[in-house]
Amino acid sequence: MDSGARAFLQEILQTPSPSGFERPVQEVVRKYAGQFAEQVRTDVHGNVIAVKNPDAPLRVMLAGHCDQIGLIVQHIDSDGYIYAQPIGGWDPIVLVGQRVTLWTKEETVFGVIARKPIHLLTDEERKQVPKLKDLWLDIGAANEEEARKRVRVGDPVTVELAYREMSNNRAASPGMDDKCGTWVVMEALRRMDKARLNCAVHAVSTVQEEVGLRGAKTSSFGIDPQVGIAVDVTFATDCPTIEKKEEGDIRIGRGPVVYRGPNMNPVVVEKLLEAAEAAKIDYQLAASGRPPGTDANVIQINRAGVASGLVSIPNRYMHSPVELVSLDDLDKAADLLARFAESLPADADFTP
Ligand SMILES: [Zn+2]
Repeated sequence: MDSGARAFLQEILQTPSPSGFERPVQEVVRKYAGQFAEQVRTDVHGNVIAVKNPDAPLRVMLAGHCDQIGLIVQHIDSDGYIYAQPIGGWDPIVLVGQRVTLWTKEETVFGVIARKPIHLLTDEERKQVPKLKDLWLDIGAANEEEARKRVRVGDPVTVELAYREMSNNRAASPGMDDKCGTWVVMEALRRMDKARLNCAVHAVSTVQEEVGLRGAKTSSFGIDPQVGIAVDVTFATDCPTIEKKEEGDIRIGRGPVVYRGPNMNPVVVEKLLEAAEAAKIDYQLAASGRPPGTDANVIQINRAGVASGLVSIPNRYMHSPVELVSLDDLDKAADLLARFAESLPADADFTP
């Protein structure tokens, strides 16, 4: 990963994008893609679409969702404490004790999420899993009036967007799900040699995946691709307490994961594996007996049907503030998709 690509990854991870509030991160994506894409546009839903070789009749869509799970301000009480609704699927236990940022119109407001100290929890309370409705955000406001001056109902909230590099080229951050995917599709587009492309490639930073795969739905309708590949994160199972017999054997650093199953067109899968083998790119196989909850789910059934695929980045601790991935896996995934697109002839037929 060169320094520009690495800086792009860090910047999108440190820019907020709770579903429905993706504007700041999409601004970063547009700027990056503008350096190498022939066209960059934003649709009315907020999807950013970067294109190479736009006039080719065979259209390939690559989708990585830029939205992240977050919270939204719901209520400010008479003492100035703030209650929030989730945006996307949180395990409330990981929120207790987090530093948070409220992204208001005027400023960024720092806060914390907490509950009363363990000393004061009753025996009954200690046994219970906390619920979001019992947690509050504290921004240090002295009273309701002061809180309302700084924060409005509907302001989006993220946990602190702290990116940490670790050993073995691994990194942890909130929002690896799925800014890794956004990075991979844009970086794949950058790495494609236009002279080798017989297809148009539309790399899409999709919105609102975490609240129902919504941006992939609108953008795939608009682009009308014959081939569509989603890039998302998947569960790395190389940590304690996950059962490989149920979830498969997926390891950090062993390369991108190519999914097989009813959500994946078999010709797309074959061509992905051929591209990986020809370019000597490590990959892992994963199975899903039903369509998983990724953009590939809705891309496949766009209009009269799309030849879909799913390439995933192994991710430990998904939907937590410390999602951990290998940057090597991101690099290899970008190479894989670039070589896949370059390998397609103009008359490629994906009919199973
Ligand atoms: Zn995701």
